[in-house]
Amino acid sequence: MYWEEDIETMSRKKLEDLQLARLRESVKKASASVFYGDLFRKAGIEPNEIRSLDDIRKIPFTTKDDLREHWPYGFLAVSKDKLVRMHSSSGTTGRATVIFHTIDDVNEWTNIVARSMYMTGMRSSDVFQNMMTYGLFTGGLGFHYGAEKLGALVIPAGAGNSKRQIQIMQDFGTTVMHVIPSYALHLFSVFEEVGVDPGNDTQLRIAFLGAEPHSEKTREKIEEFYGIKAYNSYGLSEMDGPGVAFECQFQNGMHIWEDNFIVEIINPDTLEPVPEGEEGELVLTTLLRDGMPILRYRTKDLTRIIPGACECGRTHARIERIKGRTDDMLILKGVNIFPIQIEKKLMDIPGVGTNFLIILERKDFNDHMTVRVEVQKEFFSGDLKQLEDLRHRIGEELKSDILITPKVELVEPGSLPKSEGKAVRVVDNREE
Ligand SMILES: [Zn+2]
Repeated sequence: MYWEEDIETMSRKKLEDLQLARLRESVKKASASVFYGDLFRKAGIEPNEIRSLDDIRKIPFTTKDDLREHWPYGFLAVSKDKLVRMHSSSGTTGRATVIFHTIDDVNEWTNIVARSMYMTGMRSSDVFQNMMTYGLFTGGLGFHYGAEKLGALVIPAGAGNSKRQIQIMQDFGTTVMHVIPSYALHLFSVFEEVGVDPGNDTQLRIAFLGAEPHSEKTREKIEEFYGIKAYNSYGLSEMDGPGVAFECQFQNGMHIWEDNFIVEIINPDTLEPVPEGEEGELVLTTLLRDGMPILRYRTKDLTRIIPGACECGRTHARIERIKGRTDDMLILKGVNIFPIQIEKKLMDIPGVGTNFLIILERKDFNDHMTVRVEVQKEFFSGDLKQLEDLRHRIGEELKSDILITPKVELVEPGSLPKSEGKAVRVVDNREE
């Protein structure tokens, strides 16, 4: 049931003792880097001043801008000849950040990915199809190494080439797949096109959904269409990549591996910790990384810690599925909106397809939102009233949630641009 029972079910007291010992080491290691060396000097911090977990708050936060400004080697805590791997963030906002690993770092990361997969019920007898981009993006190699360590047969399919993905699944009896949720939805129509029913014609039983926030409804749609269990995962390149947090079989929040990371949730405006169980920005500290330790990293991801113990017996805290990134938040007519809120509403409406796009424009000093939604084919086969009713309903449902009335446009399945990587949900044409 457990990959490492002693660590996964460790008492909170023991886990915290372990964290403190590792934190002290991590701070010491970090002080060897140019960035933290300077930071500690300026803030007057001696690494040996960290005597309790609360003392972590003496250390200033690290941001993505810090990583950019000290690009590429300013965070290195070891000499370059110790490094074996580089990855980078997708660079969706500004210059990509790079992360370097020693061989021990790669091994520790691989271990938490294997631990995460094992937690969902994946075993060495499984055939694992990794439908993620390989390369600088961590989702490909991260899962690849983890699945190999677990002992599964790994098919490094990579992203895209949908018909071939389905062929591979059938030919080699894929049982577990790793897929971006929007791509898993896109594949619905490809399965139909080639006449393959994933529930009956494949041996799929588990999917790992990663790389973009998605709603519970999207998960349900995917589980139902494929006839599988779909598990949510969380990671970011600055904190290794996938495997930072993962759902267990109870699918109620993601266990965040606290032997590898210290978790804080802060109010992004005041930067103070939020009361237990409340939503805020996730802040993470690496505890085992040698090449490039990062302390108190502001992830910009919004979530909360789910209070109470999990039925699976693991003691590591659970975080709620990511509500969005502070960067993703749209401000429209003074209202804060996350694209995932719109996804959640849309996926709940019968007749809505698998893709949508939010378009923002400014006309006459006013913000306007258009939501372009793919709907099922039968709506275009004649009855205009039915189409109009659906359009009206979508507008009303969205308004009830986001409090503004978007213009709704319905389009045929497959007509919106698709992406083999993370879905593009928002086109912002507003000018400053
Ligand atoms: Zn659990």
